[in-house]
Amino acid sequence: MALKVASPKLSFLERIYVAEVFRGLGVTFRHLAKNVVNQSDMPTVQFPEQPKPLAVRHRSRHRLTVRENGQPKCVACMCCETACPARCIHIVAEESDEVWIEKRCKTFEIDLLRCVFCGYCVEACPEDAIRMDTDEVILVGERREDFIVGREFLMFGKGDDWKTGRPAEVAVPRPGDPEAPPATPDEDAGWRDGAPRERIKIPAGWRANSKEV
Ligand code: SF4
Ligand code: SF4
Repeated sequence: MALKVASPKLSFLERIYVAEVFRGLGVTFRHLAKNVVNQSDMPTVQFPEQPKPLAVRHRSRHRLTVRENGQPKCVACMCCETACPARCIHIVAEESDEVWIEKRCKTFEIDLLRCVFCGYCVEACPEDAIRMDTDEVILVGERREDFIVGREFLMFGKGDDWKTGRPAEVAVPRPGDPEAPPATPDEDAGWRDGAPRERIKIPAGWRANSKEV
């Protein structure tokens, strides 16, 4: 059903608009003068000169906690790497110098561009070795590689060990490329390292309404 909307009756001054334009400008200049004179009451945050306070539970850039002797608390248990839903943590373990500690992380990389800042890694860590409390929310870089941070950076906020420690990217030939070796049944099944592996058979009962893959 059509609804008839009654138009408001405009006076002569309102109908020629000029007076209303100046009335609107008056409101704008009144707020401008009020804010210039009384800047502390302005609701606008002068970011980035004036950073906005973060919530106590805010998850900012990760850091690795450090022992008194300067070694990482991380014992390379891989719990965080396993828990990470974005698969953006990469750890290489090595034997620790200290007799009461079995392992430590040799390299510890986080790809901050893939990270979804869910905090699962912090929750999963049994050693309180990784935290997300640096209050760093502005992450700036010029290349994708700048956002892959390594162990020294995560421990001390500096260092570029991850750039030198990473092996060069290897171009993996794809099936169908002229230089690619003939595809094996394993490769057909999705495996590229040539190791004979069986595909995991998921029992049909585990997946309702779907076929076994
Ligand atoms: S915050 Fe989440 S996505 Fe980011 S590294 Fe930790 S577990 Fe992975
Ligand atoms: S869960 Fe903690 S101790 Fe284990 S690898 Fe990750 S940061 Fe290190």
